[in-house]
Amino acid sequence: MPFWGIKLDHHKTTADSQTVPIPLPKTVKILMSQHMGAPCDLLVNVGDEVKVGQKIGDSAAFMSTPIHSSVSGTVKTVEDYLLASGKVCKAVVIETDGNQTVCETVQPPQVSDLASFVKAVKESGCCGLGGAGFPTHIKLNVDIKDKPIDSLVINAAECEPYITSDCRELIERPDDVIDGVEKVMKYLEIENAYICIEKNKPQAIKIMKQKTADKKNITVVSLRSSYPQGAEKVVAYSATGRIIGEGELPSAKGIIVLNVSTAGFISRYLKTGMPLVEKRLTLDGDAFRTPCNVMVPVGTAVSELVTFADGAQSGIAKLLAGGPMMGMCLYDFSAPITKTNNAILAFTEKLAKNKEPKTACIHCGRCVAACPMKLMPTELEKAYEAKDADMLRKLKLNLCMNCGSCTYVCPAKHNLAEVNQLAKALIR
Ligand code: SF4
Ligand code: SF4
Repeated sequence: MPFWGIKLDHHKTTADSQTVPIPLPKTVKILMSQHMGAPCDLLVNVGDEVKVGQKIGDSAAFMSTPIHSSVSGTVKTVEDYLLASGKVCKAVVIETDGNQTVCETVQPPQVSDLASFVKAVKESGCCGLGGAGFPTHIKLNVDIKDKPIDSLVINAAECEPYITSDCRELIERPDDVIDGVEKVMKYLEIENAYICIEKNKPQAIKIMKQKTADKKNITVVSLRSSYPQGAEKVVAYSATGRIIGEGELPSAKGIIVLNVSTAGFISRYLKTGMPLVEKRLTLDGDAFRTPCNVMVPVGTAVSELVTFADGAQSGIAKLLAGGPMMGMCLYDFSAPITKTNNAILAFTEKLAKNKEPKTACIHCGRCVAACPMKLMPTELEKAYEAKDADMLRKLKLNLCMNCGSCTYVCPAKHNLAEVNQLAKALIR
């Protein structure tokens, strides 16, 4: 499965932008569903005083992770919030007191073996920081006697245009990244780690190579700059040459894939006990006069970030949480930042709209050539239009990672990736 991917303009204009904290917002809105899996139950009530790092939501479900307050202040309201998935979850609105008092429970965890390591990572509220939001403790909860893991793949590809938040983690906190990698290797008894970075981040590659020069079992892999190099199956293949099949987890092939900011966070959590309450974000797009990288408390409204990056709400025609290929459109400037956000992009009318109409498929095959999973998007589109669920399964629809490459290359402007999302709903 040689991977070529597609070429995109990188637009990494913020690669040299040092991360800066934004002024503390007056209120934050913290969602009880910020990760893959079950939403959390509320642990606070209106009127309660809360502190930074205090647990305010948790769930008994296996597939979940707790949620903590990012600020100190008072719970003002609890409201329903409509998620992009169409589901509704509870949201806690906290008025900040400006003191950022840290909760007494924030203490470095006691970790001595794999079980206590996994428990600590669960308590940290960590979920995949690359955007997918898979609870990290579940990835790490492997029976290594039965299913040994020999390769830790650190995903620092950051192949989406514009986003540089992972790149800044590598440049600003390389020691945390390496410490996080070594902790995961130690507790899961993993022999080798591969820190995978696209070639378009030469400074990050240089720093990581220098920092790992004396570490024989950590390799810095410099990857082709092509999209979607950072997709889990793709980066695992690029690092190890192993193919992760349909329905398989990387652990079935002896691999764990972690996002680079996740590795850095694990190191900081083990040292300080401060759970996941803040997030580094790239603010970019032609509607922002001052593109930058910022550190923000989870729950900050997007409107605060628009103001910070000198954007005028009236001039924004498209607002995205995430990159232009896989990001979600936001319909509301009051939308809160979640643990899995890594960028807010804002575009004016000039860049926001694709005005070219859809025309008939010319059978050029570009969508097939572009697909990293070797799917046939044009056939999937036909099967969806015929509502043929059996054919959709036969064409391996579930392997589609919604990377958008097929849509991007189609000269006839077919929204193939979107069709695949609808088709998945159909076969469900
Ligand atoms: S079919 Fe899915 S995986 Fe293949 S290019 Fe399109 S969106 Fe990406
Ligand atoms: S890229 Fe577009 S025009 Fe070409 S085969 Fe695929 S759907 Fe048809």
